[in-house]
Amino acid sequence: MAGVQGAIPGDQLGFTLIHEHVACGSAGVLRSWPSLYGGHEHLVSEAARVLVDARAAGVRTIVDATTFDLGRDIGILREVAQRSGVQILACTGHWLFPAPTMLARTTDQLAELFTHDLVEGADGTEIRVAVIKVASEETVLPFEERVLVAAARASKATGAPILTHSATRNRVGEAQAAILEREGVDPARVVIGHSDDSTEFDYLDGLARRGYGLGMDRLPNGAMPEYGSQGVDDRLDMIVRLVDAGHADKLMVAHDDPIWALLLTDEDQRRHVVANPDRLAFVSRVALPGLQRRGLTDAVIRQITVDNPRAWLAGA
Ligand SMILES: [Zn+2]
Repeated sequence: MAGVQGAIPGDQLGFTLIHEHVACGSAGVLRSWPSLYGGHEHLVSEAARVLVDARAAGVRTIVDATTFDLGRDIGILREVAQRSGVQILACTGHWLFPAPTMLARTTDQLAELFTHDLVEGADGTEIRVAVIKVASEETVLPFEERVLVAAARASKATGAPILTHSATRNRVGEAQAAILEREGVDPARVVIGHSDDSTEFDYLDGLARRGYGLGMDRLPNGAMPEYGSQGVDDRLDMIVRLVDAGHADKLMVAHDDPIWALLLTDEDQRRHVVANPDRLAFVSRVALPGLQRRGLTDAVIRQITVDNPRAWLAGA
């Protein structure tokens, strides 16, 4: 596994959160507008502080789901990993809202970019990413389909796992799965993300039966109305229901609550911190105890937090 500090053997990944962001904003903002976030040192030290706290709560590794268009700066990720002691796996791929340069690219060019980030290094460095992220909201738009096909090609060429951003209200994970399957990707290499936004058991059960991993990756955001009707307790209840249905080996967890959320207004950033003062320790301090109270065993918790991420990231 390519961590931002170098190779990590699968058995060294440990407790892994599969969808987080050290800093996420529009492409280029970190480099071009440091005063927006109080300068480089402030960004890195605040991120390290949050991750040191997560580490004290058991977290060993995070997947940073920040693509190039979300302002990824892989050198900053390496600095934050070094300072915090939390291992970071970076992402290539693409989120929503393509800028004109990206919109003008062919599928082959996108596949070339993703493969380059995975094999040679990202952002003009030799630091490699580990995961390919793709995204769709209401439906899979034409550019997003090109990204999915390019992701499939890069995954098949390199063995890299795929993480999706999916809006669950239109069951768009099924459309993503159809394209990835058509392109010959093994569902075991794919996590359909933001699945905990869904209220529909049969949608999630169906994806799991087809072999897809389910990212229950917005657990604290259940406290915020803009993430849909599933509150935090609803999300934990759905995890238990999926475990009871035999899908303990498909579930993975995370916060998707950026340490630096530069896509949001200052007011919304403050609202996130108020709603989730535990930051990236919420899973350890709130969600996992909640799952234990609902009857999940230590063995199942370990599966969800350690074994499943390792199998998805490093291959079974
Ligand atoms: Zn995210």
